[in-house]
Amino acid sequence: MDVMYYGDTLIVDLPTGKTEQVEFSPEMLTENGPGLAAGIALYRDHEDGDPLVFGSGLLTGTTAPASSLGFVLGKSPLSGELAVSPLSLFSGAEMKLSGFSMVVIKGDSPKPVYLWLHDGVADVLDAAELWGLDTWGTTDAVRSEMGEQLVQVVSIGPAGESPSKLSAYSINYWGSGDTAALGARMGGKKLKAVALRGLGMLDAEEPQDFYEGAKGLLSEAPAWKGFNKACEGIDAGDIDGWLKPLVHRYRSCFACPAACNTFVKYNEGPSVMESTGVEEPGMLVTGAASAAWLLSGGWKAEPACRAMESMARAGIDLIRGARELAGSPLDDASETEEAVGGLSGGEEAGWPGGDSSPKGLFGPWVPPLADEDEWLLANRIGYVIGICPTYLLASGMETSGLFGLCSSAAGVELDPSMVAGMFS
Ligand code: SF4
Repeated sequence: MDVMYYGDTLIVDLPTGKTEQVEFSPEMLTENGPGLAAGIALYRDHEDGDPLVFGSGLLTGTTAPASSLGFVLGKSPLSGELAVSPLSLFSGAEMKLSGFSMVVIKGDSPKPVYLWLHDGVADVLDAAELWGLDTWGTTDAVRSEMGEQLVQVVSIGPAGESPSKLSAYSINYWGSGDTAALGARMGGKKLKAVALRGLGMLDAEEPQDFYEGAKGLLSEAPAWKGFNKACEGIDAGDIDGWLKPLVHRYRSCFACPAACNTFVKYNEGPSVMESTGVEEPGMLVTGAASAAWLLSGGWKAEPACRAMESMARAGIDLIRGARELAGSPLDDASETEEAVGGLSGGEEAGWPGGDSSPKGLFGPWVPPLADEDEWLLANRIGYVIGICPTYLLASGMETSGLFGLCSSAAGVELDPSMVAGMFS
């Protein structure tokens, strides 16, 4: 098996602070499957340590379209069942490029720590000075410590430290699709953050075929900006039109032809390009569902974005938080802050217009763009091969080309029924 697709698995023992690198066995791949399927097998192997598994898919971090997806897998404090949440933006790819495809974090640390994965090296570091910081402060502090602004910081804020069941881990400053309160599990482990940076190269088993295949798929891959395309046909409202007066730019996740993520400015003019000294001009809105809830509840865009910023800073699940806030629109910044502080966490995640989101292993981060069977299959395929399921569903991309890339990348033959079988 090519080392850069499945190199060593890292086992982190938090009670002792020790790490161990275990060679990834090819049997793991043939018996269980790649990506999330391998992650679930690793979880079962280490279940007595109530682990969190950070993992990536077979194509994560490559030139395949939308190959941004990694995952965090663990027992949800909400359901008591196994749940998976996404590592999106650049965090999934950065994890793969750091040299670790799979990381099993076992047990609870006696003191606050953070995990630093970089260039095939893993360090468990003291986080006493980070404990108590919000996710923005944590991201700044870790990047400053490492002297590198491109470090991806998956962290918890005060909500995760408490640990509140309303919490979610945040990817850098911008929240995440963690609707299973895995952030609370990080807090229970005293794991303040996982910081990721790597300059690894990914080799393919058949490099020319892989290169040509990925290039061909990219040349035909649909592209769009904003959230409306990824919410077509569901009752999410005109999110792009609502945000438009605040939009500064759109941003893709790693290798994605689309750019859902929308940077809005509300502390200075949205069209300002040069630095004006305003330290925090706005935020990157990454979650369509949280925006849809606030829009459906009659919030104006600016206070809604401020509310999303407050939730992301505190490390609160943006979808459940927005659902709870939706019915009481506010205008005033300090009242909004207070309302976020008073969230109870009583609401379930889901989408406006009917709680049609399937439950279980996958949360409602991916919009319900298809019937439940198709939605489930897109999630399973996405998390196994490392391609964003929202992109799979919204673009209508055929998966056969992506499965062809799995073959040329690592000699792994897959089809939809084989992926479905990995979860039976
Ligand atoms: S479809 Fe949107 S959420 Fe998915 S990878 Fe692309 S930009 Fe990110």
